[in-house]
Amino acid sequence: MSTIEHWIGGRFTGGASTRRAPVYQPATGRKQHEVLLGEPDDVDAAVTVATHAFASWREESLSRRTRILFAFRELVNAHAADLAAIVSDEHGKVLSDAAGEVRRGLEVIEYACGIPTLLAGSFSDQASAGVDVFSFREPLGVCAGITPFNFPAMVPMWMHPIAIACGNTFILKPSERDPSASNLVAGLWREAGLPDGVLNVVHGDRVTVEAILRHPGIAAVSFVGSTLIARHIHREASVSGKRVQALGGAKNHAVVLPDADLEFAADHLAASAFGSAGQRCMAVSAAVAVGSAADELVRLVSERAGEVVVGPGTDPASEMGPVITAVAKERIENLIAAGERQGASVTADGRGLKIPGYEDGFFVGPTVLDRVEDRMDVYREEVFGPVLSVLRASSVDEAIQLINNNPYGNGTALFTDSGAAARRFQRGVQVGMIGINVPIPVPMAYHSFGGWKDSLFGQSHIYGPDGVAFYTRGKVVTQRWPLEDSASEASLHFPTAR
Ligand code: NAD
Repeated sequence: MSTIEHWIGGRFTGGASTRRAPVYQPATGRKQHEVLLGEPDDVDAAVTVATHAFASWREESLSRRTRILFAFRELVNAHAADLAAIVSDEHGKVLSDAAGEVRRGLEVIEYACGIPTLLAGSFSDQASAGVDVFSFREPLGVCAGITPFNFPAMVPMWMHPIAIACGNTFILKPSERDPSASNLVAGLWREAGLPDGVLNVVHGDRVTVEAILRHPGIAAVSFVGSTLIARHIHREASVSGKRVQALGGAKNHAVVLPDADLEFAADHLAASAFGSAGQRCMAVSAAVAVGSAADELVRLVSERAGEVVVGPGTDPASEMGPVITAVAKERIENLIAAGERQGASVTADGRGLKIPGYEDGFFVGPTVLDRVEDRMDVYREEVFGPVLSVLRASSVDEAIQLINNNPYGNGTALFTDSGAAARRFQRGVQVGMIGINVPIPVPMAYHSFGGWKDSLFGQSHIYGPDGVAFYTRGKVVTQRWPLEDSASEASLHFPTAR
């Protein structure tokens, strides 16, 4: 069993860490590695090298940064299959899904390759007589990223390519459940020519995170994870005077109107609810069937649930892998049972699933609960498993109301044939990311990703233009180069343009 170490200043180190956490292979239930859990001294060591590296990295030309980013892009692309294999092994998701997350991470790197254009400021010639005004943006310093287990390659790539392209240095604290992808990526950055200390990985848990939040040498924190922790991170980092964006959990609704193509809607609902075993922050976990759509939709989606091929992620035949831990499996199965107890009917039941040859794996099969109501635990809690709850509404307005009453506001989708209904929906919902006949509306890399309400704390969405704004701050220069023979125009009045 290998030990997964930190990556600080361009080399692997155990640092001051003595505590360890197990890293499982969810498909077999076996413990396969141990990861070191960083102490405050490890965070401090990373901040020291990152601060040192910042002094020269911020001075690097945009051309040199871009060359390194392009090289990094090529290396991640060349190692995409290796990364996907690591992700599949430690997370459990199927290989094609892991490859998809690497692809979406690559798109953020590709966006960051345009950094000279993204950082171009603006210039106002002759803003006043003989006076020009220009604005530009500068990096913040040492930035930190704290990431969840469910996208161990992609979510860190929402952060470090943009932060680094902007001239910052970065400390990544990946999820302790699937930490290996981050170490591979750190090595690729180095191979691409990134100076040592610009990207550091400190593995760990709560203790490590608290040290990041308190460290005065860290200027900004990006967090993605559950709502409870996101709220805490936002509060603590703000109190320490840091810039912070904290993305939280979700309960994503897909509304199906009677005019929708129900076969199409059922296919996409199943793909969205059961892909990655429902462990996506943009997974649809609540379907809202409007009017006459309900019975047929439940029949179709329950049928699809029964057809999903569940198995180890490394088997190309598998469409859905296990969930992340034994604890997660138990929690998900308990929530299904609670739904049943509280009055929902289970039309596809994934509890107690055993995969031959993988009897100790953390598998839960695709599950559909019909006639779920907003009072039930399975609706109120973020299940984060392959469970689709179907609720019923009598109109699109009632569906919008249901969505707006929910504390989360990450993603939502509408299935319809009506442009008028779509427009009413997209303007009415208090949700950050909306799909019209698109079940997982994750914005492309050149837009920004972020939810509303309890799905995001802080003003800034992540990656895209918001990412560049988050990792930089603006300066405006008002300049005059008086001609030698010009008369002085100094006056005690407040300056106004001439
Ligand atoms: P999590 O909140 O348990 O962990 C996220 C990170 O916080 C990890 O690095 C973890 O080590 C750290 N952490 C955990 N407990 C902590 C504590 N008490 N104090 C300080 N740090 C702590 O989340 P997870 O289980 O890894 O990921 C799943 C969650 O992430 C879901 O809620 C999902 O919706 C959410 N998520 C949201 C988005 C989004 O974009 N909004 C994207 C992916 C995942």
